[in-house]
Amino acid sequence: MSFFREQFTARSAAVRVRFGPGMRRSVAEEIEALGAKRALILTTPQQADLADEFSGYCGGLVAGTYKGAKMHTPVDVSEEATQQARDLGADLVLAVGGGSTIGLGKAIALRTDLPQIVVPTTYAGSEATPVIGQTENGVKTTQSTPKVQPEVIIYDAELVTTLPVEMTVTSALNAMAHAAEGLYAQDRSPISTLMAIEGLRAFRDALPGVLDNPADTAARGETLYGAWLCGTVLGQVGMALHHKLCHTLGGSFDLPHAQTHAIMLPHSIAYNAQAVPDQLAPLADLFDDSHAGRGLHRFAKKVGSPMALKDLGLSEADLDRAADLAVTKPYWNPRPVERDAIRKLLQAAWAGEEPVV
Ligand code: NAD
Repeated sequence: MSFFREQFTARSAAVRVRFGPGMRRSVAEEIEALGAKRALILTTPQQADLADEFSGYCGGLVAGTYKGAKMHTPVDVSEEATQQARDLGADLVLAVGGGSTIGLGKAIALRTDLPQIVVPTTYAGSEATPVIGQTENGVKTTQSTPKVQPEVIIYDAELVTTLPVEMTVTSALNAMAHAAEGLYAQDRSPISTLMAIEGLRAFRDALPGVLDNPADTAARGETLYGAWLCGTVLGQVGMALHHKLCHTLGGSFDLPHAQTHAIMLPHSIAYNAQAVPDQLAPLADLFDDSHAGRGLHRFAKKVGSPMALKDLGLSEADLDRAADLAVTKPYWNPRPVERDAIRKLLQAAWAGEEPVV
């Protein structure tokens, strides 16, 4: 590692993390520790049962529930939920769900400064970041502010056992993408790199066990540990080409978040491995291949990931525009983002072929 010949700056948020099967039942202690008495519980309509379950765990410390969280954090939903928080005199937000529900909690915190307890039920990682994306009139804007960083995270593997197998795989690869790009981030530190490698290792080791038995709380717990690490990396360092490609495909072609990450990851990493093979060597080692992108591709195939953008409904005719958009206002990337090479990368990802190495 060349870290100790270089200067670096590391930052980490003051977050309290509680971890373990059944830990959700301790939520009242956490509400009290934050000095709150009136939690607003958030879920999606699909996970509405959890709002009622959590009302029970909170004892008298509940102001109400809002069960209307939606994908992409639409501003009208955030305004409605914020108004409800104000009307109910809520003094804390308790978000139970995936990135969409956690995004709504952050949107309320942004508008009110209320503290947040988050209970993730996917591996997406939003719980560990100061980042919020919001959508208005079809346009998504993202900002980073400590105001939206949740104060407490409760990781409870029992809640993830219900995550359908297909979403388990794509959400895991979504989390792994944060760690993979963290390995070459400009603002990485020895600590973010350690977390990235350990997060990738946890998913590599535990995901096959989860797929054999989705109710296995030990294997689920190890993947959730991986999600914590990968999410923390996402919260600490900047992302590059892979996230830009996924934001382009999601924002302009309406492709689904986790599946797009899952398909694109081996291709983006293969692209960058040409420029930073040393930084990606730990990833290549973990996936037992001389090439990091190819190793990830084999792993994704083995765990049954979707492999082709065409299967998400993207038409081949859209690839030229996708390449044009992807090279417009590029994020910092370790390899120059060249239009022709990106077009080739997208072609391989669209067809479900091996990444270009
Ligand atoms: P999601 O929250 O959109 O959930 C998808 C669906 O799965 C929902 O219907 C949800 O209710 C359901 N679901 C979630 N967990 C479940 C479980 N355990 N069992 C059964 N059903 C379950 O999916 P996601 O991939 O977690 O989140 C994606 C969103 O999060 C995107 O909008 C993305 O931009 C955002 N995100 C933000 C950050 C950040 O740092 N701001 C980080 C990662 C993701």
